[in-house]
Amino acid sequence: MPSRIRTKLVGKVKETVLIGLLRATLAKNKWDQKLKKALKKGGKTNSVKRIPIKSAYKMKMLMGRYYVKARVAQNDPNKKIAWITSGGPVEILHAAGVTPIYPENHAAMIGTMRMADDTCGVAENRGYSRDLCSYARSDLGSIWSGKSPIGGSPRPDFLVCCNNICGTVTKWYQQLQRMFDVPLIVIDAPFQYAEDRPEAIDYVKAQLQDMMDQVGQITGKKIPWETFEATVRRSEEAIKLWKAVQDLLVHHPAPMNSFDTFIHLAPIVTLRGTQECIDYYKGLYSEIEQRVRNGVAAVPGEQYRLGWDNLAIWYKIQFLAKKFGEHKAALVVSTYAESFCYQAPYRDESDILRSMAANYIAGYINHGLDYREKELLDMARKFHLNGFVMHSNRSCRAYSLGQYELAKRLDEKHGLPTIMIEGDQSDTRAWSDEQVATRIDAFMEIIVARAT
Ligand code: SF4
Repeated sequence: MPSRIRTKLVGKVKETVLIGLLRATLAKNKWDQKLKKALKKGGKTNSVKRIPIKSAYKMKMLMGRYYVKARVAQNDPNKKIAWITSGGPVEILHAAGVTPIYPENHAAMIGTMRMADDTCGVAENRGYSRDLCSYARSDLGSIWSGKSPIGGSPRPDFLVCCNNICGTVTKWYQQLQRMFDVPLIVIDAPFQYAEDRPEAIDYVKAQLQDMMDQVGQITGKKIPWETFEATVRRSEEAIKLWKAVQDLLVHHPAPMNSFDTFIHLAPIVTLRGTQECIDYYKGLYSEIEQRVRNGVAAVPGEQYRLGWDNLAIWYKIQFLAKKFGEHKAALVVSTYAESFCYQAPYRDESDILRSMAANYIAGYINHGLDYREKELLDMARKFHLNGFVMHSNRSCRAYSLGQYELAKRLDEKHGLPTIMIEGDQSDTRAWSDEQVATRIDAFMEIIVARAT
C-alpha cells in the first residue's frame, strides 16, 4: 500500500476513535450533570431555573471534531497547520486547506479550566512580567510545561499574526517563531482613530494579497481564486448569522445572555469560511428564535438590561451570570461578541480582498475613544440598556485603556451608569468574589433607583 494512502487511512482511523472518545466524554459529562441534579432534587435553592441552550452540545462536538482533525493533521505530511491570532484573516487559510489553530482559544480553555495561574507562573519564572497578557503567558507556559486541558495544540508549520487586536501579539508570535523555527506572516493593521481611512484599507489589502502568495508557497499550491472567493462568501454568511443571533437579544425578555454568547463565539472565531460554521449558526439561530417565540428568558423575570465591555472572565462566567441573575439583570450585548461580526462600513462587491481588508481594521478594539463611545451608545439604544458592565482587564491594555474615560462619558453625557469590575480574562490572582459581589450589589442599587 503506498505510504500516502496508509497515512490517510491511519489518520481516518485515529480521527474516528478520537471522535468516539469525545462523544463518550461529552455524554458522560451530561450524565454526571443529570446525576448531580437528581441528587440535589428536594434540596432548597434560591437560584432561578434557567432553560439551557441545547446547541451548546453541538458546539462542543463541532469544536471537539475540529481539534481532533487538527491533531490528526499534525502527523500527515500533506497537511499544514498555522497558528493564527483571533483577528487574523483565517479565510485565506481555509481556502488553502490549512488547519488554523488559535493560541488565544487554547489560552481561554486554560483560563476556563482554572489552569492559568499555573501556566502563567511557568512563563513568569522564565522572566515574563506578570503585567503581560495572561493569554500570552499561559499559552507560552503551557508549551514549556506541557500542561494543557487538551494535551496542547498541534505543532504549527507556520504562524500568522495580525495586530488589529493589540501590539502584544506581535511579540508573542515572535517568541513562537523562535520556539518552533517556522515562518511568520505579519499583517499590520493600522489603528483607526475615527473613520476607517481608505489608505489604511489599501495597505492591508496589499498585505492580504502577499499573504495569499506566501501561503501558496508554503503549501506548494497556489490558492485558486474561485476557492478563495467561495470561502469568503461562506465566511460572510456565517458572520451574518452570528450577528442575527446576537440581534435576537433585543427582545424582552432576552432569550439568551452575553455570557452565553461568549461560549457560542468559538466557531465564528475558528471556523468562519467553512460550511460547518454556517450550519452551526443556522441551528443556533433557529433555537434562539424559538425561545423568543416561546418567551423563554435567559434571566427569568428579567427587569434590567446591561451591556458588557471587554473580554469574558472565563473562570467566573457562572458566578457573574448567577450574581446578575439574582438582581433580575440580563446581559444582552457585549463589545466582545460583537467584535467577531467583521462588518465594515466600506464594502465593494467587485473587490472582495479590499472589502476583507476593511473588515479587518474595523474592529471595536482597533479604534479610538470617540468611536468606542458611539458604539456603546448605539448598543445602549438598540438593546434598551440600563447600564454597562466594564471589565477592567488587567491583561488587555488595548481593550481597557480609556475605559474609565468612557464610563465617565456614558454617565455624564448619556445618563448610563457603569460598573468597573477589576479582573483578568484568565489569571485568577486578580480576582476577589467578595469585592466584586459587593460592587455588583451597589451598582444594581443605582440601576434600580434610576429605573424607577
Ligand atoms: S487579551 Fe488583549 S492583550 Fe491579550 S492577546 Fe487579546 S487583545 Fe492582545
